[in-house]
Amino acid sequence: MAGFSSYFRVVMTDLKDKGFATRAVRAGQVRTPEGEHSEPIFPTSSFVFDSAEQAAARFGGDEPGNIYSRFSNPTVRTFEQRLASLEQGESCVATASGMSAILATFMGLCAAGDHIVSSRSVFGTTRVLFDKYLSKFGLQTDYVPLTDLTAWEAAIKPNTKALFLETPSNPLNEIADLAALSTLAKQHDCLLIVDNCFCTPALQLPLLFGADIVIHSATKYIDGQGRCVGGAVVGDAQRVGEDVFGFLRTAGPTMSAFNAWTFLKGLETLDLRMKAHSANANQLAHWLQQQKQVIQVFYAGLESHPGHQLAKQQQSDFGGIIAFEVEGGQKAAWKLINAAQFISITANLGDTKTTITHPATTTHGRLSVEARAESGISDGMIRLSVGLENVEDIQADIQRGLDLL
Ligand SMILES: *Cc1c(COP(=O)(O)O)cnc(C)c1O
Repeated sequence: MAGFSSYFRVVMTDLKDKGFATRAVRAGQVRTPEGEHSEPIFPTSSFVFDSAEQAAARFGGDEPGNIYSRFSNPTVRTFEQRLASLEQGESCVATASGMSAILATFMGLCAAGDHIVSSRSVFGTTRVLFDKYLSKFGLQTDYVPLTDLTAWEAAIKPNTKALFLETPSNPLNEIADLAALSTLAKQHDCLLIVDNCFCTPALQLPLLFGADIVIHSATKYIDGQGRCVGGAVVGDAQRVGEDVFGFLRTAGPTMSAFNAWTFLKGLETLDLRMKAHSANANQLAHWLQQQKQVIQVFYAGLESHPGHQLAKQQQSDFGGIIAFEVEGGQKAAWKLINAAQFISITANLGDTKTTITHPATTTHGRLSVEARAESGISDGMIRLSVGLENVEDIQADIQRGLDLL
C-alpha cells in the first residue's frame, strides 16, 4: 500500500517555490491527452484495468493507479494536492463534509481509551460528535477555554492523544496561541489538530506554527459561493496519507468528483476573496463598534479585541466573521435579523453573500444553557459572515435593524 499512497497522496513538488496565488490556481493539475485547460471532472465510480494481472497489481498496491472512486478519483486528487500545497502539508484527504473530516481524523488516529482536550469554543456539531458519538467508543473529551494555556496544560492526561481547536473561534473570534500550544502538545507527546475553517490557508498556516493536522470544512470559504458540502484533512504522509486515508478508504465519507471540481474553482480565487472578505468585515466591525445599540463587537481586527496582537502575528488578515451583541437579548437580535432586506438568514458562512444568524438558537442551539454561557454565546449575539457585496449596502441593511432597537 505504501506505493499506492505515495503516488496518490503526496503533493507534487514542481510548484513548491511558487507563491500562494500561483499554487492556488495551478497546483495538482494533471492534464489528460485531450489537452483541456480547465481541470476535468471524472464522474466515474470505477476505473478499468488493461488485464487481470494489472487489476491484481493495483489491488495489491504493487502498481499505482485508480481503482474505485470511494478512495481514488483524479478530480478529487487534484483538489487534495492543491489544498496540501496551500497548507504546506505533505498529504491531504478530501471528505464528504467538514464533520466527516473531523470524524475521519479521530477514527484514523485514535483508539478507545484515548483522551482529547478540546477548546470549548468549537463548532456546535463538533461538540455533539465528541460528546454523543466518539464517547460511545471510549474516546473521552474535556473542554478548556481556548485562550487559557494553563487550563490546556492542566487538562492533559497520560492518555491524551490530541489537542483540538479552532482559531479564530466561532463566533467570538478568540485567538489561540498556535506556537505555544504546539510546544505544549510536543512536550506531552500528543497531536495538535487545528480546524482552519475561518482563516483558510490564505490567511493562516497552522502547520508552520507546529500544528500536526489541519482540518477544513470546504463548505465554507474554500467553496466560497455556498454550493457544495465538503471537507479535508491535511498533514504528514503517515498520519493523513496512511491512517486517515485508510479510514476514508474503508468507511467511505468520500468527496464526489463534482464537489471536488467546485472546490478547485473556489481555491483559484481564495486569496482574492479572503482579502476582500477581511476588508469588508474590518470596516463593518469598526462601524458596529460605534453604534449605541451594540454592546460589544467580537472581531480580532479591532484593537480592543484581546486577541488582536496574536492575530496579527499568526494571520495575514482578520477574516470575514463578526459577532456582535445588541442590547435587548434574543428579541432584539431577532428583530435586527428580520429587518434585513438582502442579507441572507442562513447558517452557512464564508459565502460571497453576507449571511446573518442568531447562534444561541441555531448553530449553538443544541448546547446546554450552561455550555452556551461558558462559550460566551449570549442571547443578544448575532453572527455576520461578511460577504462581497458593496460594504455600504451591507451596512445600510444592518442599520435598518439597528433603527428598530
Ligand atoms: C461548518 C463547520 C464545520 C462542519 O463542516 P460541514 O462541512 O458543515 O460538515 C466544522 N468546523 C467549523 C469551524 C465549521 O464552521
